[in-house]
Amino acid sequence: MDKKIVIVGAGVAGINAATKLVDNGYDGSLITIIDKGNDPINRLPEEVMTGMLGAGGWSDGKLTYHTAIGGQLAKYCGEEKAMDLMKQVVDNFTRFHPKPEEIFMSDPQEEPEFIKPYFGLRMFPVWHIGSNYLHEIAKTWYQYLLDKGVRFEWNTTVINIDFQKQDITTVCENPKLAEYYNYDELIFAVGKSGIDFAQHLSNLYELPTEPKSVQIGVRFEAPQKYFQKLIDVSYDFKLYQKFDNVSLRSFCTNNNAAYVAVEETYGDLSYNGHAKKGEEFRNDMTNFGILMEIKGIEDPFKWSRDVVSKLQTDGKGLYYSPSRTVSKTSEGTDVTAYQIEFLDGFKEAMGEYADYVLNFIDDMNKVFEFGDDWGMYIPEVKYLSPEPLVNYHNLSLTTYPNVYFVGDALSARGITVSGAHGIYVAEKLIQLSHLKDLTQ
Ligand SMILES: Cc1cc2nc3c(=O)[nH]c(=O)nc-3n(C[C@H](O)[C@H](O)[C@H](O)COP(=O)(O)OP(=O)(O)OC[C@H]3O[C@@H](n4cnc5c(N)ncnc54)[C@H](O)[C@@H]3O)c2cc1C
Repeated sequence: MDKKIVIVGAGVAGINAATKLVDNGYDGSLITIIDKGNDPINRLPEEVMTGMLGAGGWSDGKLTYHTAIGGQLAKYCGEEKAMDLMKQVVDNFTRFHPKPEEIFMSDPQEEPEFIKPYFGLRMFPVWHIGSNYLHEIAKTWYQYLLDKGVRFEWNTTVINIDFQKQDITTVCENPKLAEYYNYDELIFAVGKSGIDFAQHLSNLYELPTEPKSVQIGVRFEAPQKYFQKLIDVSYDFKLYQKFDNVSLRSFCTNNNAAYVAVEETYGDLSYNGHAKKGEEFRNDMTNFGILMEIKGIEDPFKWSRDVVSKLQTDGKGLYYSPSRTVSKTSEGTDVTAYQIEFLDGFKEAMGEYADYVLNFIDDMNKVFEFGDDWGMYIPEVKYLSPEPLVNYHNLSLTTYPNVYFVGDALSARGITVSGAHGIYVAEKLIQLSHLKDLTQ
């Protein structure tokens, strides 16, 4: 008899885990997926972080394929296995895509000469799913899992998990009801929108953690024409610069119909980006994060949170440009940000690290010659909250071996790595159930 599995979070990691399980004959009726957001039919465009496929469901749909991008997958399972797991995620998105022939893959091969004096360029394949297909993908994928008997609980927030009793307490919206679930195996896949809750559990159970670095910076935007020569080489380019304890990279590049997205974490606003497909969305902009990885900061998590909270005015993040005003969102409203004229507050909050970002922009200006025609949304941040220590062979907590942390909750930073975490855990659960069958 298979075990009862509860998956908290119907995001990329949770959904890929469930899919791997049922694809391999696991009884779907033993799997319950609980999510605080909406099913794919009712999920609204402004629900960026929650619901079917999680943040990945409303993302730019760019599936990166390299073990140095998007979190530390190879650390757990080795390079070869990591590539195999990520490919399985790509295959799942392809399989539920309404027009798989429209997925295109970019695979740059050579670093262009013109960036060489100032930057390195990281090169790897990217599959472009198309963000406006994600909704359809989510619906078809959902139906597949329903047909396999998987049970979904939507608009249901998990507010407590008792790791000892293996009990989950949830609150369901409308009508507001408390519900309780128990599990044999728990896949914890709450993504960034569940980061507070993950932190709460980590504190409550005093989970051992792995040390982390800080990742913080800005979301840069400029008209695409300046970057076209690089986009022609690498659509989702990743520029980088390396110094002693700081490395900088451009992160998550969006082109053609590039929009800045506002994220709220811990009550503060920060920025990200996404691209839309379709001529009606074209704005001929390029945006990307300029993220610093800073080593050697004591308590990096607290440091980032302090910096981010200093970079808020009137409950908004900041926008700086020598000549521009904030851009429009894909819904046609202004991106929520407080426009600043001077960079003093930015420099004060970031300290010596502000200069690394500004120098990066200066160096880009030498290569791409955008002059004053650019802006930056401050801050962009990847909260690498203390990562719970897991057993590398199956991502289970070292102190609670039937609880598996996956996806952004385990410091992944992207769709392929998050999905790969889910599949990795599912493979281990399948092995467990086969072993059990053999011994019965
Ligand atoms: C605007 C934007 C664009 C992005 N673009 C890209 C991209 O192009 N390529 C890429 O690789 N990555 C992109 N990302 C990042 C990517 O979406 C995430 O890394 C990925 O979705 C993480 O997967 P996950 O399953 O860990 O979490 P998520 O996909 O975020 O899913 C977590 C789920 O958990 C649920 N949840 C949280 N807390 C609770 C709780 N207490 N109870 C119940 N449910 C809960 C949420 O509702 C959510 O559905 C983007 C992110 C954003 C915000």
